[in-house]
Amino acid sequence: MQKHLMYIAGQWVEPSTGEWFETDNPFTSEPWALIARGGAADADRAVRAAHDAFTNGPWKDLTASARGALLRRLGDLVAQNAARLAELEVLDNGKLIAEMRGQVDYVPQWYYYFGGLADKIEGSVIPLDKKGYFNYTRNEPLGVVAAITPWNSPLLLTAWKLAPALAAGNTIVLKPSEFTSVSTLEFVKLFEQAGFPPGVVNVITGYGKEVGMPLVEHPLVRKVAFTGSDATGRVINETAARGFKRVGLELGGKSPNIVFEDADQDAAVNGAVSGIFAATGQTCIAGSRLLVQESIHDAFVERLLALASTARMGNPLDSGTQVGPVTTRPQYEKILSYIEIGRNEGAKLRLGGGAATRPECGSGRFVEPTVFTGVHNDMRIAQEEIFGPVLSVIPFRDEEDALRIANDVRFGLGAGVWTRDIGRAFRMAERIQSGTVWVNTYRAVSYMSPFGGYKDSGMGRENGAQAIRDYLQTKSVWINMGAGTANPFVMR
Ligand code: NAD
Repeated sequence: MQKHLMYIAGQWVEPSTGEWFETDNPFTSEPWALIARGGAADADRAVRAAHDAFTNGPWKDLTASARGALLRRLGDLVAQNAARLAELEVLDNGKLIAEMRGQVDYVPQWYYYFGGLADKIEGSVIPLDKKGYFNYTRNEPLGVVAAITPWNSPLLLTAWKLAPALAAGNTIVLKPSEFTSVSTLEFVKLFEQAGFPPGVVNVITGYGKEVGMPLVEHPLVRKVAFTGSDATGRVINETAARGFKRVGLELGGKSPNIVFEDADQDAAVNGAVSGIFAATGQTCIAGSRLLVQESIHDAFVERLLALASTARMGNPLDSGTQVGPVTTRPQYEKILSYIEIGRNEGAKLRLGGGAATRPECGSGRFVEPTVFTGVHNDMRIAQEEIFGPVLSVIPFRDEEDALRIANDVRFGLGAGVWTRDIGRAFRMAERIQSGTVWVNTYRAVSYMSPFGGYKDSGMGRENGAQAIRDYLQTKSVWINMGAGTANPFVMR
């Protein structure tokens, strides 16, 4: 098995702990690579390298245009290596090759877009209310940014953080998920090829508590950009607050996908299935609560079951597979336990309901696409993020009822609305409490469009031009142009 070292200050280094752990392939359940088990000393070393690159290295002397050019070169290199990187993602996280290839093919756009923004970070001249002074602002980078990512879409979610952070002139310590570190370690090799100076991007690997927490606590880290569960996000937020660090938190969801009686039913069935069964439900924006208007409920559910039951499970590297395995063992067990919870809560199991043991699933960790109907919004399967292929179908009466149910949850990441009524589309988009609302589509993202959560789904926005502001701080500069010498004992 190949041993993967960590990348600090442009060098491949052994973990200070001398320890390694296995990462397994979710389709075979076999270990296939060894990952360095980093600790606090490694976090410290990586942060110091990033801090040194920020303060003393050639990075700070690059023009903003030169930074942008490096990012665009990086984008080209990702595009050239997309097939290999996507395959590594599949080996580690078990998601479909079509999904991961689509994601990695799209990743260069983040580096192109934010590379283009690098030399458009402008300050302003303030038309002061005081004579004899010239006042202007500079938007400056923060310093060392810690980027912590989950296992479901490693390279995409890394791009959402690194592209704006680097365009703004910061340096990075990246900590990928312990379940999916390999693609990030391969990706980081491209920084050297692109010509980034050593120390600008560093990667440390290992478990959250052992290496992630010391990274968050490190006094030289100025911002933590995190994607992951709300439970971890809460701990990171509290810890970062003690050090007055900025945080960006992209957390979980329990997104409503709402189908009105006037919707295009074919499109809505398709959107409902892709909302929950794509990526085996392991996406933060999974449409895990399907709200269906009472008047069409039964017929719609029949069509949904008919389509969902045709999902082909199997090897995620086969292009014909539609539902792959669950990435991690703890997640697999969690999903199965929620199916039990749903049964015990009195929801009606209409499809699936357990581990999938079809021959094409081999020894992988598969869960049958599962549909519960008769779900009440106060049940745990309607309120808690399952992060798996488990759909809760909830009936509603009218628009007000749909809104009440949609917003009656502590998350607010995404929402889908299926209707042909344009007025209703706008009304729903205005009143749903979530960071994204899709009308007659679902699960669309772009580097140009802000993404983030309302309520417990997070803080801050990634993507879109405004994302770069979260990696900058404003300095106000006062120049005395001859205002004279003032009384030293009163404010000027
Ligand atoms: P997780 O919170 O368990 O782990 C995420 C990362 O945090 C990993 O790298 C982990 O090692 C690290 N970590 C864990 N404990 C830590 C600690 N105490 N200090 C510092 N780092 C720590 O999440 P996960 O299981 O990897 O990912 C699934 C979750 O991510 C789901 O809740 C999902 O909704 C969410 N997610 C959100 C988005 C989004 O953009 N909003 C996207 C994808 C996934």
